[in-house]
Amino acid sequence: MNSLSQKKPAILGGTACFPQGPPEWPFPDKAVNQVLEEAQQSGIWGKYHGPYLEQLQQELATLHQREQVILCSSGTVAVELALRGLGIGKGDEVILAAYDFEGNFKNILAVGATPMLIDVDSRNCNLDLNLLEQAITKSTKCILVSHLHGGMVPMQALENFSTKTGIPIIEDACQVPGINIEGRTAGSWGQIGILSFGGSKLLTAGRGGALMTSSPQIAQRVKLYSYRGNEAYPLTELQAGLLIPQLQTLQQHHQKRQTNVEHLLQQLGENSGLTSLTNTDYTHDTSSYPGYYKLGFKYNADHFAGLSRERFCDSMQAEGIALFPGFRALHMIHSNKRFKQVNQLPVATLCDQNLVVLHHPILLTDEKNMKTIAQAISHIHDQAAQITHMYTHNPLNLRHKKSNDYPME
Ligand SMILES: *Cc1c(COP(=O)(O)O)cnc(C)c1O
Repeated sequence: MNSLSQKKPAILGGTACFPQGPPEWPFPDKAVNQVLEEAQQSGIWGKYHGPYLEQLQQELATLHQREQVILCSSGTVAVELALRGLGIGKGDEVILAAYDFEGNFKNILAVGATPMLIDVDSRNCNLDLNLLEQAITKSTKCILVSHLHGGMVPMQALENFSTKTGIPIIEDACQVPGINIEGRTAGSWGQIGILSFGGSKLLTAGRGGALMTSSPQIAQRVKLYSYRGNEAYPLTELQAGLLIPQLQTLQQHHQKRQTNVEHLLQQLGENSGLTSLTNTDYTHDTSSYPGYYKLGFKYNADHFAGLSRERFCDSMQAEGIALFPGFRALHMIHSNKRFKQVNQLPVATLCDQNLVVLHHPILLTDEKNMKTIAQAISHIHDQAAQITHMYTHNPLNLRHKKSNDYPME
């Protein structure tokens, strides 16, 4: 063994692989600074409306082939507005994957409707199309679908299903702005597409969101609902300005992340104890390429001598790597009075317990960092039993600072 492979994990007192911690997001960007400067000089930062909002709207409309783009204060609000735009309310049901962003579940409740939870595909932990048929009742009004953790839902098949049944789709592209799914930009499928510009997201203005549709009726309903003599959920002119240069570098950044993901998976190899959610091509379409807001893996505790997923994540964070447990599955954290479900949701239950996600900023850095991440995993693997032992005997020593800019996205 060389000295590298004997490195003591940071959680056991060794030196962290990334002593500075994970890279801060967003990265410094000259073009963004320029917008800030210009906005300051022109005084546009203090206006309700200006050229930036209009330009952003137009660029998003073109990118998504949607006539109507409604900018708003968050992705969460955009999803709520989408449900309202479809006229969904009390007594209605909305089909949603049982493993998804919690805000989507809450939004369905917020409009008075009931989530109908269905299980996810075991390969990528995204909505399983095969279960849709069983989820339909006479109250079904919509399918709300997101692309998560480097996975993609095969949207052509979903859209075919939607056309056949007349059930509209809301496509939540908050984690994957600008990616390509079977020849179309994510967020351009179905009746409504949703984006988030939250502080941790790939396109960020700190806060913000967008709803995109080609239906004038839906857009009209949304505008009527959110206009109260003034906009109730606005995106600001300054936020719009900050997003415009990011749209220009988005594709280049997607490519860089993709290259780094490939390096990382190669470094990890077949037997790392982590199985990527992204390496299955289930869309059968070479024009698709995924996005990585969080890179998801199934964690196999047995491979790590029984080290729990939570302790594995703590150990990685101690190395300065932003790896976290995935979402809680929605049926595990809400009273079953609040939702309906198709079956026992076995795959989503496993996802709740086994997924880990790597936060994206490191994927825009140097290739050598991918090797360092793989090495960190292998060191933790080699000393997993000691880590478990230490947790059992000295749990209070192991608290360490975590970055607080990861809301429950
Ligand atoms: C972040 C996120 C949202 C909500 O976006 P916010 O702007 O943070 O409110 C919705 N859906 C998914 C899948 C997300 O990741």
